[in-house]
Amino acid sequence: MKIAILSRRASLYSTRRLKEAGEERGHNMSVVDYLRCYMNITAHKPQVMYQGGPLVGFDAVIPRIGASNTFYGNAVVRQFEMMSVYPTNESQAISRSRDKLRCLQLLSRLGIGLPVSGFAHSTKDIDGLVNMVGGAPLVIKLLEGTQGIGVILADTDNAAKAVIEAFRGLDANILVQEFIKEAGGSDIRCFVIGDKVVASMKRQGPPGEFRSNIHRGGSAEKIKLTPEERSTAVRSAKAMGLRVAGVDILRSNHGPVVMEVNSSPGLEGIEGASGVDVAAKIIEFIEKNAGPGKTRDRIKG
Ligand code: ADP
Repeated sequence: MKIAILSRRASLYSTRRLKEAGEERGHNMSVVDYLRCYMNITAHKPQVMYQGGPLVGFDAVIPRIGASNTFYGNAVVRQFEMMSVYPTNESQAISRSRDKLRCLQLLSRLGIGLPVSGFAHSTKDIDGLVNMVGGAPLVIKLLEGTQGIGVILADTDNAAKAVIEAFRGLDANILVQEFIKEAGGSDIRCFVIGDKVVASMKRQGPPGEFRSNIHRGGSAEKIKLTPEERSTAVRSAKAMGLRVAGVDILRSNHGPVVMEVNSSPGLEGIEGASGVDVAAKIIEFIEKNAGPGKTRDRIKG
């Protein structure tokens, strides 16, 4: 098969591993910088142009779209979809998952466990918002944040109100959430491909840090999931319409709760901690599922 990895740089760990895994399995793999693609949006004959010529003959693309390039990256993925090229994740599913609020709304509709969360535009009703999620301690999140930046733990109602007011004063969109103290600064990343969790890891923040992000100094280790955690992860990926996803779960007193569903989950941490060749599993999934006309998103929302 001829497969393109849509990625900014061939040297990134995940990109490199996907290329290697595809080549080992006999495929023709290319890394395409999606920001360097330009598109011909003509009736009947959509094309993606790259380095002076059209990209032709691809069976599948693996989108690895960075959070800050979602708009353009997704336009490129959509253009491949128009050309009947199979994407591991569809453009619609990627945009859906990039919106944290939309993500939680879709998950809640299916009854998937979530931290009690609130969202408001006006600061006139801050008391109501804070009470609704059970009062302090609570977590305040910038909707546009990644890698734990913009995730704040407020210990008192007054601190929470001040932070909410400050963010809203800057016109930032925020989410207010029940603090899952019992998670103890750890979370679980479940790597979902199709309808299976193929690998998982537990991430633990450094002492005194409630955020488990590796970028914030956290560490990762292998973990065994409960059947409920497995099914929560698979249902969450499905709810977003993602075929490849990283689902982040916290272990709460009321069962697993989902933090986030990531459409371009990194391979480095998870392959290292779990010992699973996740890249090869993604390629195997493409072998089994890619084909013209397999682009069909049926999520309403
Ligand atoms: P990001 O997308 O920036 O990584 P997250 O929402 O995943 O932001 O939050 C970062 C980390 O903070 C999570 O991995 C988790 O460890 C911790 N965290 C987030 N929300 C909560 C919460 N409601 N209760 C307890 N810990 C949380």
